[in-house]
Amino acid sequence: MKNLIAGAGFAGATLANLLANKGEEVLIIDKKDHIAGNSYDYRDKNGIMIHKYGSHIFHTNNQKVWEFVNQFSSFNTYMHEVVGIIDGIEAHIPFNFNTLYQVFPHTMAERIEEKLLKTFEYNKKVPILEFKKQDDEDLKFLADYVYEKIFLHYTAKQWGKNPDEIDGAVTARVPVYLSKDNRYFQDKYQGIPLNGYTKLVENMLNHPNIKIKLKTDYKHISYKSDRIFYTGSIDEFFDYKYGYLPYRSVNFKFEEYDREFYQSHACINYPNNYDFTRIHEYKHYLNDKSSKTVIAKEYSEDFAIGKNERYYPIANDENLALYNKYLEDAKKLDNVFFLGRLGDYKYYNMDQAIERAMGIKLD
Ligand code: FAD
Ligand code: UDP
Repeated sequence: MKNLIAGAGFAGATLANLLANKGEEVLIIDKKDHIAGNSYDYRDKNGIMIHKYGSHIFHTNNQKVWEFVNQFSSFNTYMHEVVGIIDGIEAHIPFNFNTLYQVFPHTMAERIEEKLLKTFEYNKKVPILEFKKQDDEDLKFLADYVYEKIFLHYTAKQWGKNPDEIDGAVTARVPVYLSKDNRYFQDKYQGIPLNGYTKLVENMLNHPNIKIKLKTDYKHISYKSDRIFYTGSIDEFFDYKYGYLPYRSVNFKFEEYDREFYQSHACINYPNNYDFTRIHEYKHYLNDKSSKTVIAKEYSEDFAIGKNERYYPIANDENLALYNKYLEDAKKLDNVFFLGRLGDYKYYNMDQAIERAMGIKLD
């Protein structure tokens, strides 16, 4: 066999499609009983599209990636807005000028707004760790407020650490936004595939040159192939010889309600209350009509082999040094290529996983 791809998530499926279109035969395997990796979704008995591994919203500025995915599915024009329960009210996240007026008395919000506009360019996105470096008393108060009410406890639940103890790029994903734009993402292209991610990936893999084998772990096969593309965790490939790469995992507790809607938005964050980080209500994404609704409460925990799934690589000096040891070994293999969120140990969004697969030289 010419090409073996381990993992049928976005990274593996993109590569399979590109290879197949070049006329090459591909076998793609996945240890799960379904394709689409963490982006997997399905319609439940109520006709609601459930994202099994947490809410997935497609967003990208990359026109090539957008055109690529649009070959396999049409998308709606859903633009994600998130609110968080702050001081008991639903307030916009990322924190922006609208949030300012939601959480503070009007005159106080006006005074702070004026200072913000004098200090920062309108429309600027400022990571919270940078935003905390303020001299002005009002702005310092604001920065401490945002840090405490939005980031501190959410990050403790999500990562088991304070925001200053994790890679700054993580909290910078949700900056303080000097704008009145309530959207979670500002990318040019955004949406949800009309028939779901699983169908989209199925269409990607629907090619006479592609064979799929599910419930098949790379560790337990003995096929011979010229090239291997591995989208599982790189430490697992090398039998953990230098040690385990740490990940955070997530546990979703699903609940069904006999009413049309549970909450106002698809995703509500709970930075300060409860042990879960957020609640997802799935019917918002495709405007599914049902008298019932399904939600999931998201609880974060450490990944442990055999207990749960790998979701989030944890970027810090120690873990990246360990990853680099595996990477050095990977470079010595001529016919094995690593990619994807687990293969590269990088906090990719879906578009980045696709972009990464597109970047692999296929000659
Ligand atoms: P995965 O989807 O993880 O696929 C890897 C596949 O490899 C899996 O199916 C796994 O079973 C298989 N595999 C692993 N080891 C083996 C083995 N030994 N043998 C066989 N198969 C194996 N991105 C967005 O763009 N927007 C979002 O809103 C968004 N929300 C997210 C929410 C959560 C809670 C999480 C965890 C991620 C979210 N993402 C989001 C990120 C998105 O899930 C990833 O970017 C995407 O899944 C990466 O694709 P991948 O193919 O690299 O990895
Ligand atoms: N974050 C936070 N409070 C929030 C939202 C996000 O502290 O209300 C921080 C937290 O550390 C989180 C990171 O910002 O892990 C990135 O958030 P994002 O929503 O991008 O995470 P994902 O959707 O990838 O889980």
